[in-house]
Amino acid sequence: MRNVGHFIGGKKIEGQSGRFGDFYNPSTGELQGKVALANVSELDQAVQNAKRAQKEWAHVNPQRRARIMFDFKALVEKNMDELALLLSSEHGKVIADSKGDIIRGLDVVEFACGIPQNQKGDHTLGAGPGVDVYSVRVPLGVVAAITPFNFPAMIPMWMFGVAIATGNAVILKPSERDPSVPIRLAELFIEAGAPAGLLNVINGDKEAVDAILQHPDIKAVSFVGSSDIAHYVYHEAAKYGKRAQCMGGAKNHGIIMPDANMDQAVKDIVGAAYGSAGERCMALPVVVPVGEGTAEKLLDKLMPAIEALKIGISTDPQADYGPVVTAAHKAKVTGMIDKAVEEGAKLLIDGRGFKLQGYENGFFMGPTLLDNVSTDMVTYKEEIFGPVLQIVRAKTFEEAIKLPSEHQYGNGVAIFTQSGRAAREFAAQVEVGMVGINVPIPVPVAYHSFGGWKRSAFGDINQYGMEGVRFYTKTKTITERWPESLTEDSAFIIPTF
Ligand code: NAD
Repeated sequence: MRNVGHFIGGKKIEGQSGRFGDFYNPSTGELQGKVALANVSELDQAVQNAKRAQKEWAHVNPQRRARIMFDFKALVEKNMDELALLLSSEHGKVIADSKGDIIRGLDVVEFACGIPQNQKGDHTLGAGPGVDVYSVRVPLGVVAAITPFNFPAMIPMWMFGVAIATGNAVILKPSERDPSVPIRLAELFIEAGAPAGLLNVINGDKEAVDAILQHPDIKAVSFVGSSDIAHYVYHEAAKYGKRAQCMGGAKNHGIIMPDANMDQAVKDIVGAAYGSAGERCMALPVVVPVGEGTAEKLLDKLMPAIEALKIGISTDPQADYGPVVTAAHKAKVTGMIDKAVEEGAKLLIDGRGFKLQGYENGFFMGPTLLDNVSTDMVTYKEEIFGPVLQIVRAKTFEEAIKLPSEHQYGNGVAIFTQSGRAAREFAAQVEVGMVGINVPIPVPVAYHSFGGWKRSAFGDINQYGMEGVRFYTKTKTITERWPESLTEDSAFIIPTF
């Protein structure tokens, strides 16, 4: 059994609240450990440490802040195998996906290494006679990062990478379902030379989240998780006067135009729908073949490709995907498939009864494919977050644009076509935040930014890239003049020249 506590003031500490959560090995189904659930006073202890560390850190020059990020990146790379194994053992995703999780987080750390350039201010020389104006971006102070189970390395790094590089201290509250990797990242951050208290990890549930939201010394909250909780966190953060960016759930559509390269599209769709057992907010759980005969052409290739998928334990290098995260989540996904059948969807491939030989207690699910899905079905409207692909047939291109545009979520969307004109029109019209053209999972690179629309994101500033720099800093603008004597130009008030 692994007991996971918190990481405060540069060291691991045990939980004091007397409350614990369970986390599992999804491949075996066994209870793997207990995670401490923080209370208000433990959160406050972390905030006091963070405040002390941030006071000094705010005055550390940007190139020195960047150097710690460089060293941290190198250390994570050096420990990649160990981290990926730990991540897979609690999440269930295959090792290649765990490495991807870590590498995509490191991309943002790499962006943060450029902070001397990216946090530079603006300067106007001579805004009036002898008057100069300059703007600088200063850190907020102590900020919080609340993260989901499905990317326990990438999403924490999206947040603390940029927040710390810009001069803040961070309270990270990861998911209680896979808590070990964030603690290990905090240890490596200290090893990289970061001052104690700059990155604190508080494990916990709603009690810890509410304590964060209500703490007067936490100035901003970055959240990623499901939409109802994202909305709650956004609302509460605003109530307590905090800046907030809260990313939520998704239901991303893949549009298949009649002229799509079907072999490539099928390969991409299968990877994007079932990879990581469908537990990605940028997965493609809905496919929309457009026009007469396209669905049949797609199914001819899609069905055998799905049937060829190999499900295995997370350390099986041959496996395409592993188990889902918990027994409760497996039951939820199974219930959604039952409901889809009840609602009239045609079950082409049923993954519900799947058992992996030798791992019968693991939380495995076979791939499921549902056809004739319509927009009035609850299972179309809601996020399923499992290895389930739904086919919604569209007669026309206009209908295909309408489907993702009118859905409550608007995280990502992809179109598969060989027509530049159709792709351009689609990208211009679709009401979704991140668009892929022949790219199934259009997660933007670290120097752009990540954010969906509608119920996929609450708040107006995206994650990472320059948007991240803006989120974690506030602008101070200085207007100055240096007259030779204090009486000279004494009528000067504002530069209206
Ligand atoms: P979740 O909403 O259950 O948990 C997210 C965080 O909120 C966790 O830290 C959790 O401890 C906390 N939390 C849970 N219940 C809470 C409550 N009642 N009050 C306050 N805090 C609470 O999400 P999850 O299941 O861990 O992650 C999967 C979800 O995250 C999916 O909906 C997925 O689409 C979404 N997601 C979105 C993005 C994105 O960028 N849009 C990225 C990854 C995941």
